[in-house]
Amino acid sequence: MDPYRLPRHVVPTRYEIRLEPDLVTASFLGTETIAVTVNEPTTEIVLNAADLSVTQASLENDRGQRSSATIALEENLERCRLTFPASITPGSWRLTLVFNGILNDKLRGFYRSSYKDAAGVSRTLAATQFEATDARRAFPCWDEPAFKAVFASTLAIDPALTAVSNTRIVSERREGHRKVITFADTMKMSTYLVAFVVGELESTTPMSVGRTPLRVWCVPGKVKLAAFGQDVGVASLRFFEEYYGVPYPGDKLDLLAIPDFAAGAMENLGAITFRETALLVDELQATHAEQERVADVVAHENAHMWFGDLVTMSWWTGIWLNEAFATFMEMLAVDAWKPEWRRWTTFGVSRAAAFAVDGLWSTRPIEFEVRAPRDADAMFDVLTYEKGASVLRMLEQYLGPEVFRDGVRRYLRDHAYANADTSDLWAALGNAAGTPINAMMDGWILQPGFPLVAARRDGGDLVLSQQRFTYRPEPLEPFVAASGSRDQRWQVPIQVRFGTRNGDRVVRLVLDGADARVPIPAGSDHTLVNEGGHGFYRVRYADDLLDPLLRRLPDGLQPIERFNLVSDAWATVLAGLTSVTQYLELSARFTAERDRNVWASLLAALSALNRVIAPADRPGLEGFTRRLVAPAAAELGWAPRPGEDELTRQLRGDLLRALGTLGNDPAVQAEAARRYAASLTDAAAVDPNVLPALIAILAHVGDADRYEEFVRRFRAATTPQEEQRYLYALAAFQRRELLAQTLERAVSGEIRTQDAPFVVRTLLMSVYSREMAWDFVKRRWDQMDRLYPKHGLRRMCEGVIGLATPELERNVHAFFTERTINLGGKTLEQYLEQLRVAVALSEREGEALASYLRRFS
Ligand SMILES: [Zn+2]
Repeated sequence: MDPYRLPRHVVPTRYEIRLEPDLVTASFLGTETIAVTVNEPTTEIVLNAADLSVTQASLENDRGQRSSATIALEENLERCRLTFPASITPGSWRLTLVFNGILNDKLRGFYRSSYKDAAGVSRTLAATQFEATDARRAFPCWDEPAFKAVFASTLAIDPALTAVSNTRIVSERREGHRKVITFADTMKMSTYLVAFVVGELESTTPMSVGRTPLRVWCVPGKVKLAAFGQDVGVASLRFFEEYYGVPYPGDKLDLLAIPDFAAGAMENLGAITFRETALLVDELQATHAEQERVADVVAHENAHMWFGDLVTMSWWTGIWLNEAFATFMEMLAVDAWKPEWRRWTTFGVSRAAAFAVDGLWSTRPIEFEVRAPRDADAMFDVLTYEKGASVLRMLEQYLGPEVFRDGVRRYLRDHAYANADTSDLWAALGNAAGTPINAMMDGWILQPGFPLVAARRDGGDLVLSQQRFTYRPEPLEPFVAASGSRDQRWQVPIQVRFGTRNGDRVVRLVLDGADARVPIPAGSDHTLVNEGGHGFYRVRYADDLLDPLLRRLPDGLQPIERFNLVSDAWATVLAGLTSVTQYLELSARFTAERDRNVWASLLAALSALNRVIAPADRPGLEGFTRRLVAPAAAELGWAPRPGEDELTRQLRGDLLRALGTLGNDPAVQAEAARRYAASLTDAAAVDPNVLPALIAILAHVGDADRYEEFVRRFRAATTPQEEQRYLYALAAFQRRELLAQTLERAVSGEIRTQDAPFVVRTLLMSVYSREMAWDFVKRRWDQMDRLYPKHGLRRMCEGVIGLATPELERNVHAFFTERTINLGGKTLEQYLEQLRVAVALSEREGEALASYLRRFS
């Protein structure tokens, strides 16, 4: 028997839950009556409970039969076992439980979040975060996604506070010194989607989408930051009702900003919770990237109301069904709302993040068997979200958007209020397409990794061949076990564009063997593989195919195609297939580039090189960076021009930041100081897209006074985005004594535990702080483990990838070998392998790189 799965002889159908949280003592009392169906005679009921004390349990039915249970809590299995003196007969029963628990500080289950009000006084609210398996910390329940039931919740709270749950309020009354609020029944849904938020809350005026009122909630004083989130909430809800062809399944929709929140957001039906940066924003003061983040997350969570909430995976193995789909739908919705943001081009950056992990031997298939809940937590990664969404985009483009949408509609109709598996999705999409797609999709979902498609000319033919892309010829033993094999094949849907004098010709094919030949049309002057850029594979061109493409830069290729060209080229450098000097020569041809995403790829490669070069080579890299970036930065200047689009404004900020930090350009640094000073007296003096770049540059060259100033501004920030900018700036200084202060702040409680692990990750990735940050992490590991949410600790460890010197790498291995640290799933293996890829690059290319860079110093 699987120790992680509950027996199914007793099944819940409806929970009536009453919780009485006390924010002052950080505890709660609870009672619940669960309508259950007993399917076979038994003396035992087993359900989940963790960190709860269950004091009473009894069962009764409509025939007047009643029985009390003895209660045994199985702590390690997070279960509560109820044993009855005599056998319970099959039929309908009501199980009543009395329990109590604590409002914890670990940002999961039912937890406390605190914030300072306008007068600087500390305030507390209580919120929930149940996915994957923490509903059991708030009330005993069948805490598996397949046990769907109706939830009827009641909260008894301090009358001065407000409570929000999944559905609208049906009654509110006084009971002694408590306000008792009862919420309407939910639809039939999984436990991980139940939510409660209790505190001093303010909301916007509701806006209606059809019959659904949509509001944004936040702590007092911040409602002025809610308009943008509400707008995108309304627009995306409308988009999804239309796209899915199924009405929104709840009775209202509340979006709630929670001051302490472990993940980005959580798709609780009708009561979506967010970290503040993902929902609240001052449109006029925010960068394009900051607005895009809010739009993305709001749209993503709304997409889940159907994909995840209405139709739910049967078990955590299918989590990709939820997350990949919501990520894909988030792109569609934001792209429809703001086409000028060109969201599918920016998505290239996300796809590249998935490639970076999926090119490792320690990758895993998108769909991966999950047994222990701990492994479910580790599934919330780039493979589930970004690779999953990329593969769906590829399939959508292959089937055609209408066919794909029809398949999605059919899937939602067929499985509403129930659970489904991957095969159900393929069946619905295959039905709509009139052709089975299982065989093609199994290769992408059940196999790890992705193909590298090599393109070469042979006579009058284009020859395409596939092999698995890996960064390293061998797995990194003993730390990494190989996932999958070297000779895997995929059915790769490929679009090739042949440019001819008479216009472009696009050829579609499915590469399913080792190679395929396509005749090159007469008069073709260039050949581009992965036309449109939606394929989840990398391309390596033979030189005689690459040169005509480079001659078309910048505007003869689409932005996503240029992005793929540089991103694929950099990946082949890391894999040892292209030399780093060849890559730098290639990147030097992009000085006329004006797309923000292409620049993101170019600049990320330079940052990666910065981490593997010797300090003596840094001036060379700085010179190279200046040479590459300066022409575009000079053309854009410091201030936006009238009529300029948002993407260009964001690019300006990105380029200036690169020049002032990685390029170490003294003129840019001086001008940044001047403009930053001007912005303090006149906020309109600096474009919001440039201001964060100024802050980053000034931190990079900053002294103790600047550090103190930024600490003050972090504390006094008036928007979540402003707070984040100054917070991360504290990790961007160069002086050791200042960086040491930032490390202390990350464990002293001054930096919220939702943010602190990410700040430490940044310090581990910086060449100025990585040694001391790593020392700090080793010394304070136990403290951080106690303090930070699990998700945060896992993400903090990602910073070890930045420890890219042979000595530090040895030290990292020694630490993780000595201490038994499980970050869940293959997370740690992936970090160690990525670190090896970086160090191997310096070992392989260090000398050539040093001599190449010397000419720029
Ligand atoms: Zn999601």
